[in-house]
Amino acid sequence: MWWRHRGRRAVLLLLLGACGGDSPAGPDPVSSVQVTAPYEALVIGDTEQLVATALDAHGATLSGRVIDWSSRDPAVATVTQSGVVTAVSSGTTTIEATSEGKRGERAVTVLAPASPVSASGQLFTIEGIASGPVTATLRIGVSPPRSVSVSADGRFSLTSAAPGDPVDLVISASSGSYLPTLVRLPRSTIAASEHRILLTPRRWTIVGGTYASSTVDISPNQAFTPPCTSASDINCDGFYPKSWATGIKLWDTATLPARVAFDHSRTAAPISATDSVAFWSIVRQMEADIGRPLFRPAMASELTVDADGWSAGAVMVRIDASLTPGRGYTNWRWDNRGVVFSAVARFGSAAPLGSISVVTHELLHALGFKHSCAWSTVMGGYGCSSAPGLTRQDVGYAQLAFQLAGIQRAANAYRNLYDAMQGERVVVLGLEPVSLTFTQALGLAPTPWGGGQDGAR
Ligand SMILES: [Zn+2]
Repeated sequence: MWWRHRGRRAVLLLLLGACGGDSPAGPDPVSSVQVTAPYEALVIGDTEQLVATALDAHGATLSGRVIDWSSRDPAVATVTQSGVVTAVSSGTTTIEATSEGKRGERAVTVLAPASPVSASGQLFTIEGIASGPVTATLRIGVSPPRSVSVSADGRFSLTSAAPGDPVDLVISASSGSYLPTLVRLPRSTIAASEHRILLTPRRWTIVGGTYASSTVDISPNQAFTPPCTSASDINCDGFYPKSWATGIKLWDTATLPARVAFDHSRTAAPISATDSVAFWSIVRQMEADIGRPLFRPAMASELTVDADGWSAGAVMVRIDASLTPGRGYTNWRWDNRGVVFSAVARFGSAAPLGSISVVTHELLHALGFKHSCAWSTVMGGYGCSSAPGLTRQDVGYAQLAFQLAGIQRAANAYRNLYDAMQGERVVVLGLEPVSLTFTQALGLAPTPWGGGQDGAR
């Protein structure tokens, strides 16, 4: 045994020698001090906690060292011996942290307050009024945000005098059940209206239908991402279209099943009884997948149809010889409450009326959804593969949107999925928000009512 002891000691001595031989004398001396701060700028009256870290010659952290704090210009900002900085007047100064003769520093910029901005509103969730710890925060520029806890009835009110433009209103729930919501507005308009916000859950459990009880992780960022990049192409739009920036545009589920009628007086080629049987069997499969009634047959002769082939409360279907045979194209319209109330689905020939993928795709457009490459979906196209029928994600994202659309109208909470997409991008993913100018370039921004259209596929 003795020789083993001796062997270990020899190895230990060799290792110490490799370190330079100065270690056994006592604790390592401080070689440098690093200072970090949470914010790039403060507004007069703000405080922030700086952190000083003492490092040895190898850059390793040394714990328990005494730090002496000082401000080069206490008229601009003061600092306590625990590193808390208080902004006193506008300007720039340097806060120093010294330990064992080594000094670290951090520049502190103090801004004069701007004229205050306020944001107030009320939150809603699928369960009703927001419950549990939820925080509303105003973030302006690079200075500390202003936060309040949302009250039990979902209300919040915030004020900030931080300079900067635009202003971000961020809603975050500590439970982790909901995605953060981000409303980014110009400083001049943030206070103009009450912010009635409907939070988006991070996960949806499918109710009824083929995929009942399975769950879908919800990413509005994916659902709003177009499958293509052409900003000038109005059809280059996500499963949740950009027009939803002003609220969800879907049929009111109370009005479903919507009437569907073959428009025999405008059709370019006959729609036969066989075509009709094939079409309706596809509709029944859609309803079985999505777990709710969607459409019911109607006779065009019983409906009021305008000169362009539209009928309020109905989806009109016809053959249009101007389209590529085998393809479909659908347009739809919504009112000023975001309720889709009418659609026209055209097909290039009678054959696609028997195609599960084409009919399901066009009728999802008729409900108000557009395209995606983000998951396996019947709403593919634009270079993305298209599933032959409704997938689990299609059903999950569609059910969630219908559920939220009902609350949106009942609670007048038109900030929902689009603002959750912005929150997911900025807060969760660290991306830039989708800019309003991009949306406006598509001609889809803040119009309270309008219509959607498909791309030919
Ligand atoms: Zn399409």
